[in-house]
Amino acid sequence: MGEYVDGLMAQLVAKNPGEPEFHQAVQEVAGSVELALQRNPRYRDAKVFERMLEPERVVIFRVPWVDDAGEIQIQRGFRVEMSSAIGPYKGGLRFHPTVYLGMLKFLAFEQTFKNALTTLPLGAGKGGADFDPKGKSDGEVMRFCQSFMTELQRHVGQYTDVPAGDIGVGGREIGYLFGQYKRIRNEFTGVLTGKGLGWGGSLIRPEATGYGAVYFAEEMLGTRGDALEGKACLVSGSGNVAQYTVEKLLDLGATPVTLSDSGGVIYDKEGIDREKLAYVIELKTVRRGRISEYAERFPGVEYTPADVAKHYNPLWAIPADCAFPSATQNEINAEDAANLLAGGVDVISEGANMPTVPEGIDRFVEAGILFGPGKAANAGGVAVSGLEMAQNSSRRSWSRETVDDRLHDIMRAIHEDCRATAEEYEAPGNYVHGANIAGFRKVADAMLDQGVV
Ligand code: NAP
Repeated sequence: MGEYVDGLMAQLVAKNPGEPEFHQAVQEVAGSVELALQRNPRYRDAKVFERMLEPERVVIFRVPWVDDAGEIQIQRGFRVEMSSAIGPYKGGLRFHPTVYLGMLKFLAFEQTFKNALTTLPLGAGKGGADFDPKGKSDGEVMRFCQSFMTELQRHVGQYTDVPAGDIGVGGREIGYLFGQYKRIRNEFTGVLTGKGLGWGGSLIRPEATGYGAVYFAEEMLGTRGDALEGKACLVSGSGNVAQYTVEKLLDLGATPVTLSDSGGVIYDKEGIDREKLAYVIELKTVRRGRISEYAERFPGVEYTPADVAKHYNPLWAIPADCAFPSATQNEINAEDAANLLAGGVDVISEGANMPTVPEGIDRFVEAGILFGPGKAANAGGVAVSGLEMAQNSSRRSWSRETVDDRLHDIMRAIHEDCRATAEEYEAPGNYVHGANIAGFRKVADAMLDQGVV
């Protein structure tokens, strides 16, 4: 790491103490950006990267609500408006007990580069609350969402900031949030994406992140004259991204063999077929149960409960060809990375945001495997959110085929941009450099055009 990055990181850590995920995300990008700064000193003179590290605006607010027992609960809500250089702020909302400012800053920072890669005019933001939807009744989730939106509505809007879902925020939560926005503002606009199909949502939005991560893997394999057909695939998580990753893998003739949640891992050697996937979708989105139930329902499935005393995740130690981390940040540590390589995995497409620790990324890059970083591989979700915004603005709905074709084209374009940029920077096959530099240049050029703002 050069002197410039060392100095920048020291300042960042001093100015943003206690935010390790944010430091990690910036460090990972800074290594690539330094190469772009060396080639174009204008970026350095105009301090574009330094400006990208400071959110344009952060809103932190109280979210009081009443639970089913009549007790008052108080959560903390956030919206980080990171960059509006190329479009309105855009990025998901996360409801999880671990949410705090540093986590959302890392996510909003990643979003800046990801959204630039989509080819669409989307700025970057991220928000959420330290609310745990797990175990809450529908009424409790609704009252929380209404209270959250009662404040958030002042800060968002179709031309300003357009949130979507993320961990803990799916179709149910978006519905409650949209209802409250409409009620307070008395307007029916595309202020949120991931809406229901009957009220402004886009076909393929729920599927988009998972489908996109699989399309990205297929593109990477294509550079080696290979394809996903017949490959055994590890998938982590069992939420939105994991479910539609499994679906697209099945479409392309691959065999997904694992899923997980915070309680543990299931390993289904026979493969997760369409019937089993339908069971998982019902389990997770309707009954809101645990993945352990899969092993009770289907014979021959191994279930390994999560064990905090273990240094590694047993899911990544299962021999396979490809891996699709689709749960959460830092779910692949250095030992997991070594286990993946030892188990024969040579394609990794990150559905989750920053699921691999820096030492893990280094191992993958050194090993020369096909490694698709999240900001490129999981950009399909926000890309189709952009297409949902376009449909809302034109008051039209596109067919499933139209949206899926556009998603596929966007994922091909992102892959090509990352591949070509990596080559231009003498790092062929290094999608980390490719994604970071390609995303950075688009935002940086817009910032140069717009002056010091
Ligand atoms: P989701 O539907 O809420 O599912 C999240 C899954 O990950 C659940 O199975 C959850 O298990 C598991 N998980 C979450 N936190 C965990 C933790 N700390 N330890 C172990 N397991 C954990 O969320 P999602 O939308 O699929 O998002 C998954 C990842 O994809 C996140 O990194 C998100 O930022 C990223 N992403 C999502 C989108 C999108 O369009 N939704 C787009 C781009 C990137 P439990 O239920 O037990 O917690």
